[in-house]
Amino acid sequence: MRLVSFQGPGGPRVGGVRDGQFVDLHATDPAVPASLKQLLAQGRPGLARAQAALQAGALIAPQSVRLLAPVPDPEKIICVGLNYADHAAETGSPIPSEPVIFNKFPTALRADGEPIELPALSQQVDFEAELVVVIGTGGRNIPRAQAMHHVGGYTCGQDVSARDWQKDKPQRQWLLGKSFDSFAPLGPVLVTPDELGDPHQLDICLRRNGQVMQQSNTRNLIFRIEHLIQYVSRVCTLKPGDLVFTGTPPGVGIGRKPPVFLQPGDRTEVEIAGIGTLSNPVVAAG
Ligand code: MN
Repeated sequence: MRLVSFQGPGGPRVGGVRDGQFVDLHATDPAVPASLKQLLAQGRPGLARAQAALQAGALIAPQSVRLLAPVPDPEKIICVGLNYADHAAETGSPIPSEPVIFNKFPTALRADGEPIELPALSQQVDFEAELVVVIGTGGRNIPRAQAMHHVGGYTCGQDVSARDWQKDKPQRQWLLGKSFDSFAPLGPVLVTPDELGDPHQLDICLRRNGQVMQQSNTRNLIFRIEHLIQYVSRVCTLKPGDLVFTGTPPGVGIGRKPPVFLQPGDRTEVEIAGIGTLSNPVVAAG
């Protein structure tokens, strides 16, 4: 299944995608929760109900609703740094011996099509294409062998990063440098694991103004998804709808000579095979 979130009466609504159009699953069958996060929490029985509603429901033109990030309200956004060997090399960092974990605030989320706002507080805003794992059923101390059963789906994300905050502030400021409002575009759709197939064989690229800047395949992840889920869930309980940004491939702006940073008027597109394209204009913050 391919699922979206859109603004409905009274809050976010989960939509199923059929023939390129949306079906309001909760309106079709009130037993299907209104939000994607609640739907994921139900696991397989919920998804079976959602599938039936998707086939039965009336079609809505995508242009007639406001698209949201697939999970507009996650409890946690967990990110992995330096998870492609060739990206670690371009930053001058050694290949990490265990996952480098940081986070972003959920207020940074934006939908497909919404602008990335360049803050006046940074002169070095950079792009990072990432495969994002959406947690389905949650858990603590999830064994590696069970980890993939806790994945609710996959989507495209961008870990927009203010390099001057990330690298130059005293003691560094990864959290704030990656949490300016609009620094986490996400979407356009969540694709369920049964529909996507192997998540470690996906071409991923980022285009800036139509030019390919980053290009790789998720087979190049240093720490695979099951490892990340096992690693993080030893520390904290993963909840339905939590997001895991799995790291960015090489080609980011800071690694280029001369460096390239986002400018007002740019457009970035993150494309991942089997999922789709996340497209966002870049503007100066008002
Ligand atoms: Mn990143």
